[in-house]
Amino acid sequence: MEISIQQAVTNNRREKPPTDATLGFGKYYSDHMFTMAWNPENKWHDLKITPFAPFNLSPATMVLHYGQTIFEGLKAYRTETGRINLFRPEKNWERLNQSAARLVMPEIDQEVFLTAIQRLVALDRDWVPDSYGASLYIRPTLIGTEPFIGLKPSSTFLFFIITGPVGAYYPGGFNPVSIQVCERYSRAGPGGLGEAKTAANYAASLLAQKEASGQGFNQVLWLDACERKYLEEVGSMNIFLKIKGTLITPPLGGSILGGVTRDSVIRLAKSWNIPVEENRISIEEVLEAQRNGTLEEIFGAGTAAVISPVGLLNYKGESHPIGDGKTGTLAHQLFDEIMGIQYSLKPDPFQWVSPIHLE
Ligand SMILES: *Cc1c(COP(=O)(O)O)cnc(C)c1O
Repeated sequence: MEISIQQAVTNNRREKPPTDATLGFGKYYSDHMFTMAWNPENKWHDLKITPFAPFNLSPATMVLHYGQTIFEGLKAYRTETGRINLFRPEKNWERLNQSAARLVMPEIDQEVFLTAIQRLVALDRDWVPDSYGASLYIRPTLIGTEPFIGLKPSSTFLFFIITGPVGAYYPGGFNPVSIQVCERYSRAGPGGLGEAKTAANYAASLLAQKEASGQGFNQVLWLDACERKYLEEVGSMNIFLKIKGTLITPPLGGSILGGVTRDSVIRLAKSWNIPVEENRISIEEVLEAQRNGTLEEIFGAGTAAVISPVGLLNYKGESHPIGDGKTGTLAHQLFDEIMGIQYSLKPDPFQWVSPIHLE
């Protein structure tokens, strides 16, 4: 596989931001990006790493009108010994191709996907923060690029990967968030796009998130679109509940995104002999468990935060504390274990970590 590399000239390199509480998420981009193009004659071609720069796109470009776009999100972690780790990147490749199939886009070879990330992160290695909790966020994205104003799948595509340093999600400590059950809007319905990592789902969520924030809640709890009864996701994370010692998460039935963190949580919990159920659970069952004292924990799971404990649940104007409003024991254990594996501070029994080859 040929990837041409054109390095940014020294005086075009960006200044690296400080790795402190101001780093935040999504504000800074590294010096280089990976791109490759697809057309029906050549399939994927023109694989290259170039300086990070704007694209030149026709205003008629299909993705801008019909939303034919999918993305992934993963991180590179710097260990104490200076090594750089990826965490289960082959799962992101797998999911990218599942999203591609749903959005009528061409698949990408595993070797191309993984090698592109390897070379890009190796080249921009100095952008990987070295403080625990901070990391280099990696954003692979695939868009339809044909300039055409008419509804059909695009006939040309662009795949690109950009990266940027992000801070520890909890610079002020691992504190629980408040969530509000969304009664008015849905993020995804049966047969829709919920199980694809595609822009439309996030566009659908913006107003709900804005209204919940306006009422003082951190995140939206999404219920199923048909009956507004069964839990689906929290914000853009998968949701877990611990009731009477059992860990419960909604099954991947089509409208829920299959998170890599979700899968890691399930496998770790099972390895600790915690019973895990992938079952539908209604908001009424959750509130009943809260009332009778069997609801021990609720937390979200996703790459950005790893684990996000929930301390308060608001439904129909009433607020209910979860686990005394404090971070649960299991949430804490999972957070420490997953982060420990990502930063090579703990053993990696499932071989989830793969190093960046720094020659
Ligand atoms: C990305 C995402 C998740 C979490 O997936 P991870 O692979 O764990 O980061 C969950 N829900 C939605 C809607 C997402 O977009």
